Amino acid sequence: SPYMEYHPGGEDELMRAAGSDGTDLFDQVHRWVNYESMLKECLVGRMTIKPALPKDHREEKNVLNGLSHEIQEDFSVRVVENVGKIEIVLKKKEDTSWKRLGHPLENHNLLIPKKDTGLYYRKCRLISKEGVTHDTKLFCLMLPPSTHLQVPVGQHVYLKLTITGTEIVKPYTPVSDFLLSEFKEPVLLNNKYIYFLIKIYPAGLFTPELDHLHIGDFVSISNPEGNFKISQFRELEDLFLLAAGTGFTPMVKILNYALTNIPGLRKVKLMFFNKTEDDIIWRSQLEKLAFKDKRFDVEFVLSAPTSEWNGKRGYISPALLSQFLKRSLDNSRVLICICGPTPFTEQGIRLLHDLNFSKDEIHSFTA
Ligand code: FAD
Ligand code: NAD
Repeated sequence: SPYMEYHPGGEDELMRAAGSDGTDLFDQVHRWVNYESMLKECLVGRMTIKPALPKDHREEKNVLNGLSHEIQEDFSVRVVENVGKIEIVLKKKEDTSWKRLGHPLENHNLLIPKKDTGLYYRKCRLISKEGVTHDTKLFCLMLPPSTHLQVPVGQHVYLKLTITGTEIVKPYTPVSDFLLSEFKEPVLLNNKYIYFLIKIYPAGLFTPELDHLHIGDFVSISNPEGNFKISQFRELEDLFLLAAGTGFTPMVKILNYALTNIPGLRKVKLMFFNKTEDDIIWRSQLEKLAFKDKRFDVEFVLSAPTSEWNGKRGYISPALLSQFLKRSLDNSRVLICICGPTPFTEQGIRLLHDLNFSKDEIHSFTA
């Protein structure tokens, strides 16, 4: 059979599941991992597949783990978050029978609670950096070969650089390219690349260093963290997003996920707070999306506009929110996501409670 279940019994059981001594192991190995607990670990953790080294190299280096034969560099991992399934497809490099799968890596068949895994960093190469606004850039980083890193919706990672001999770490939220795909060929091929929208603060500690990196330089990226859960979208009808400045970054994947995966969704509204028009990230892309998808609306609110600005002004306020947060039906199931500078988020949460939204209806992104 070209398919098999992944059992916690390990490789022997895997061989038995294949119904043979393993000599007729198939061309593609499909592992179906149905255990919810394992899924959770995998979703939040890391998954690195260590390819076999060429035979003489293995012996020379006395390598004790890895697959027994070489596989093609190109492999795919499909995570079906709402079902609880992870499917890994590996392709053999050579069309031969495998007598065994290989030597397991450390911690094979162990479920490690996320809190005990710690942060694990992989060195990623800077592929491009493109100006998006006068101070915000889109950074594209390439993951090392054989690494699969899928950052769940609403989660962030840590970027690490060594600055004057000290390791400095700051959190950033990867974005997807879905708002860009109208203009470019999709660039997220095979999950090899990871994108960040990052504002450069000239007097900041980390971002000027990041900005000074050259194409080809390395940045370390951790595994994902965060407490947003896809289940918060269950049976959602109205989604309201309140973003300020780069607090827009978690909203990118949320928007994409909501508009493509929530069948009963009627309305998605983004209220995007910035200082000036020049600070608005991906304004025309958001306006185009609102034009294309009638469920989506965007409103820009500026705290320091020029006199020509005809739109909404000021900081987050009861007047702005009560007008914006209208349920599409009296009893619609709503979720409000809020992210931005700490005073913005704190003030926003207070105002949302004053407007009688419950704790379950609010998700705030904080440090
Ligand atoms: P910092 O050194 O922290 O300084 C930032 C600003 O504060 C500068 O203007 C500096 O002059 C000023 N400042 C610093 N210290 C003081 C002080 N003592 N008194 C007065 N002013 C001071 N940012 C993004 O751009 N994109 C993202 O996707 C993103 N995701 C995030 C996700 C999470 C979960 C969190 C918590 C934050 C995220 N951030 C994101 C913010 C990011 O982590 C950094 O805080 C940001 O990039 C600034 O880092 P820095 O070291 O360059 O600046
Ligand atoms: P900014 O200084 O450009 O401000 C953007 C808007 O925030 C302002 O126009 C205003 O409407 C509002 N704002 C700012 N200060 C306020 C205050 N004191 N009270 C009420 N409203 C206020 O913002 P920025 O420089 O882009 O900063 C974005 C912030 O978002 C950073 O602090 C960053 O750490 C945070 N962030 C957090 C996450 C997360 O997941 N937790 C993700 C991305 C960004």
